[in-house]
Amino acid sequence: MNYIYFRYLLFLFIYIPFLNTSHAEQPQSISINSPAASPTPIRFLLTFDDGPSASEYDNPSEKILNVLKTNPFQNDIKAIFFTQTQAKGAGGSEHGRKLLKRMHDTGHELAFHTATPGHANHRFLSEQELRCSLKQGIADLTDVRSSSPQLVRPPFWSYDEKTLAIYHENNLQMLLTDLSANDGVIYVFNFSFTKRKNMRKMLLALRPRWQAGELPNLDGATPIVVTFHDINRYTASHMEEYLEILLDVAKELEMPTTTLPFYDKHDEMLRAALLKTTKDSSVKPALPGIWNWLWSWL
Ligand SMILES: [Zn+2]
Repeated sequence: MNYIYFRYLLFLFIYIPFLNTSHAEQPQSISINSPAASPTPIRFLLTFDDGPSASEYDNPSEKILNVLKTNPFQNDIKAIFFTQTQAKGAGGSEHGRKLLKRMHDTGHELAFHTATPGHANHRFLSEQELRCSLKQGIADLTDVRSSSPQLVRPPFWSYDEKTLAIYHENNLQMLLTDLSANDGVIYVFNFSFTKRKNMRKMLLALRPRWQAGELPNLDGATPIVVTFHDINRYTASHMEEYLEILLDVAKELEMPTTTLPFYDKHDEMLRAALLKTTKDSSVKPALPGIWNWLWSWL
């Protein structure tokens, strides 16, 4: 009896401190490692505006399609192309139409940007002109895709309550952006010395909201929409470098990416894009570059 009592005391003496320690540490390790406390990894959703290029020589849109297909970082990346279906320098040309088909056939998403001869600001068109151009663009894209496009991006990021309502009336959802290469305006010298700095600055601005779990996430990823212009020759010849910059900047800012850092499946990409669309004109998302400032005046 005494022996059993002694063993019991010995057990309490030896093991209780360990049991206490492990219980004391458990909540702390849960709070550190719990997936709910860690932000969902980011995944880059690449988008391209203004194309496809009509150029017969060294076509920038084709170059970009080739890089998306094969590059040192991730092959077979899928992207969304916000196209101009009637512009002569883009989808309104024979070569441009061939590229629209190639984009669709290779699993990219064709979306609406303009169907006017030029890069018209939707907010400055009359309601009738905007409705006509949407009808035209939807018809042009439906011809290629065999289904209606679902996404629109306003030229110059310019929209208001009326434009958004007309988009919705035409079953189009508006996708803005999180990051932008700011490569839409082509000056005499068509290059950018500040690619890395720009991307870092924009991703850094998003970081607090990502950390707080405020950015929408889906399928285990926080989609980060990135905008380029596929008609820009500089962008096209630096596309691989841009992919590397995105990965480097994410690493530097300690924002882990999903195992495949870019979307590689069309349907998954489209669902992520639809999740990111602007539903209400009273929400004023930050626009890239000077656009927030400019549209607050005009
Ligand atoms: Zn544009």
